[in-house]
Amino acid sequence: MAHKQQLPDVIGNTPLLYLRQASELTGCDIYGKAEFMNPGGSVKDRTALGIIRAAEQAGELQPGGVIVEGTAGNTGIGLTLVANALGYECVIVMPQNASEEKVRQLEMLGAELLLVPAVPYSDAHHYIHTAERIAAGRAREESHGAIWARQFDNLANRQIHCDTTGREIWQQTGGKVDGFICAVGTGGTLAGVAQALREQNPAVKIGLADPMGSALYSHFQGTGLQAEGESIAEGIGVSFVPGNLEGLELDYACRIDDDDALPMIYDLLKNEGISVGGSAGINIAGAVAMARELGPGHTIVTILCDAGSRYQSKLFNPEYLWKRKLPYPHWIAN
Ligand code: PMP
Repeated sequence: MAHKQQLPDVIGNTPLLYLRQASELTGCDIYGKAEFMNPGGSVKDRTALGIIRAAEQAGELQPGGVIVEGTAGNTGIGLTLVANALGYECVIVMPQNASEEKVRQLEMLGAELLLVPAVPYSDAHHYIHTAERIAAGRAREESHGAIWARQFDNLANRQIHCDTTGREIWQQTGGKVDGFICAVGTGGTLAGVAQALREQNPAVKIGLADPMGSALYSHFQGTGLQAEGESIAEGIGVSFVPGNLEGLELDYACRIDDDDALPMIYDLLKNEGISVGGSAGINIAGAVAMARELGPGHTIVTILCDAGSRYQSKLFNPEYLWKRKLPYPHWIAN
């Protein structure tokens, strides 16, 4: 008899892909968790499911209730799919600089969408603060409940990554994993996977790959929250320490320039047939840097957060890249 699987049942359990070129460059085995194969196309499907299930268990959400969230897009896509499957409504607040592909996808999925100017976190109109205000208003009006998903501070986020992403990595590598590294948006992935792997083996090295424009690298260096430069990668890089990162101790941290991350994306697509977005490029460059630090013979895992198709208008748009003096291969210009 066929299994009666529904959308929430097919989130996670993604393949662990061997990244050939990154491995050959370093003499290590580097793997990427293919999170772009989740039904909503990103790692954030897991967070969406974790947050909604936790809210249900806490009695905060009844059928017909509303979920409000501020997101660079992927969490909104995951939340809306899970909400559609389980009978909730979604209100999604996004910065105007999010890729048009993600905006169009959210419209298609039927989310109530609000685009706000991309302003610093310190500004009261930042998308995260806007989502909080809207959620408070809706909570007073909705008879079935309204929650603010608050993915940055909601620990259900890192818990689902501990219970699923981290455990899967341990199983898929047969416990032969020396290092894990990724960038941080909310920190749910990094902190959750770190917890799961260290529970199995406290010697696993945990690393942060921080994009330019993010303040976490300097925070972990002990020099305060300072950012320099900028990145076109979406969904990663923060100017504050999210609740999901609290208590996390790192073994390694690096800062990755878009100039180094973008060639990883183009080479991976052209030579290995794997299409990923900007944050995965930062992650792979981070894994290469960590591999060089650890030396040959180690196994390092990172996250392929979403697919390149989500950023066709940016990462595969020569005009966009040229204007920003970013490197791109001749074959995308055709
Ligand atoms: N990459 C992309 C494309 C994302 O949307 C996100 C989520 N913000 C991340 C990476 C970072 O994941 P996390 O929130 O678990 O730190």
